[in-house]
Amino acid sequence: MDLLYKSTRSKSVEIEASKAIVKGLADDGGLYVPTSFPKLDKDFKEISAMGYKQVAYYVMNKFLKDFTEEELKNCIEKAYDEKFDTELIAPIVKKEDVYFLELFHGATLAFKDMALSILPHLLKTSVKKQNIDKEVVILTATSGDTGKAALEGFDSVDGTSIIVFFPENGVSEVQKRQMVTQAGENTHVVGIHGNFDDAQTAIKEVLNDTEFKKLLDENNFMFSSANSINIGRLVPQVVYYVNTYAKLLKDGEIQDGEKINVVVPTGNFGNILAAYYAKKMGTPIGKLICASNQNNVLTDFINTGVYDRRREFLTTISPSMDILVSSNLERLLFELSGSKEEAVKEMMDSLKEKGVYEINSDMKKSLEDFYGGYAGDEDTLKAIESFYEKTKYVMDTHTAVAYSVYEKYKAETGDTTKSIIASTASPFKFPKSVNDALNFGDKNMNDFELIEKLAQFAGIEVPNGAKDLDKKEIKHTKVCQKDEIKKTISEILGV
Ligand SMILES: *Cc1c(COP(=O)(O)O)cnc(C)c1O
Repeated sequence: MDLLYKSTRSKSVEIEASKAIVKGLADDGGLYVPTSFPKLDKDFKEISAMGYKQVAYYVMNKFLKDFTEEELKNCIEKAYDEKFDTELIAPIVKKEDVYFLELFHGATLAFKDMALSILPHLLKTSVKKQNIDKEVVILTATSGDTGKAALEGFDSVDGTSIIVFFPENGVSEVQKRQMVTQAGENTHVVGIHGNFDDAQTAIKEVLNDTEFKKLLDENNFMFSSANSINIGRLVPQVVYYVNTYAKLLKDGEIQDGEKINVVVPTGNFGNILAAYYAKKMGTPIGKLICASNQNNVLTDFINTGVYDRRREFLTTISPSMDILVSSNLERLLFELSGSKEEAVKEMMDSLKEKGVYEINSDMKKSLEDFYGGYAGDEDTLKAIESFYEKTKYVMDTHTAVAYSVYEKYKAETGDTTKSIIASTASPFKFPKSVNDALNFGDKNMNDFELIEKLAQFAGIEVPNGAKDLDKKEIKHTKVCQKDEIKKTISEILGV
């Protein structure tokens, strides 16, 4: 039977991949999950001879069954091209006893590029396959990384336009400049007077506003989302875990079949879930080490089986992981429960109503593949500093959270399994915090000056995504109040 997609929350109809990508979220509020897990049917020796794009086709073809070979290859070609500064797309760097899987070589210097450079093409193809003849309008609220990666991804993709709302005073200088200098006729960026939650809430209201949606429909528009709950963002992320295993084998770093551990700095649980999917497909992965910052809901969950969001939201130096509700965890719950929709729905209802849920003992047992740990800001800075001292390798704050948790894991368990650390951002994206650890520049320098200093200090070139940011033309200057989001969308679309 062909692989289809179904909701995590009820025994609803099973739909093909292109439909799940267009819909984003199931009607019952659940997330789409595959009805079965494809197995890797080539051995890793064979996979290790492939380039990144070939591995991408091999893996994604197993999940996106209703895409033709031509359609999928076309999406892959358009996504993984010279936007990335290396043909390897996701290179592996070995330092001391660990392997850094660098996922930040795309246009915006963060791992979101891995999925958001292909999602627009998957979505455009899906819309066509579903015979929808409308312009797709992507609405995104961002706390920094997602917005820019989505803008780059959708830039000039015809049949689509994208509107990004960001907290005017809540993102880093680099992040803001990256967004307001965005090229492309179909891209729109708006600052709001409010925080990320205000933007997110307002957008959810717009997406559920039936009258507004009708108005759009009459004007030949439809809304969609580039949020990480879309299955079209998850599937491309499985690719790099399969590819990494194959490349380690090719480089003689591991024996065929040898297990490796994976350490992932985690926020919305998308990246680590992709590693879990890769494991389910047959990639020899041992432990999945889930690293959080001080917002350590997931650490507690993995250690106790209780998910409790009733705690203060903390702002940290790894802002892309500042999150208390990790949406993609729902997909893991579905697998751990043995595909029990009712159980998942109960837990999600409880989370919504009471802010907490607990998994049963069977599910707790199946969590054994995971290890949870966290690092506070101080540990994170210390990790950047001490690792640089030893190796001259500069980690960004998110990667450093993962490294710090990896060290704790090793000390606690004595496990010496070879490990890869998902490096989710370039240090050039968070120059202030990296400078706090390494002191290459003056404390009162701005991000742009620090970028230059960091390049000199580390002896590496400024990557394209951070180059001459302060010299680029500012194209987006719109700012609105948090209750004006709908009005602003109307103005932009002319409806
Ligand atoms: C989004 C992001 C993360 C968290 O990834 P999830 O898939 O949400 O868990 C970690 N690091 C960086 C730099 C990110 O942008």
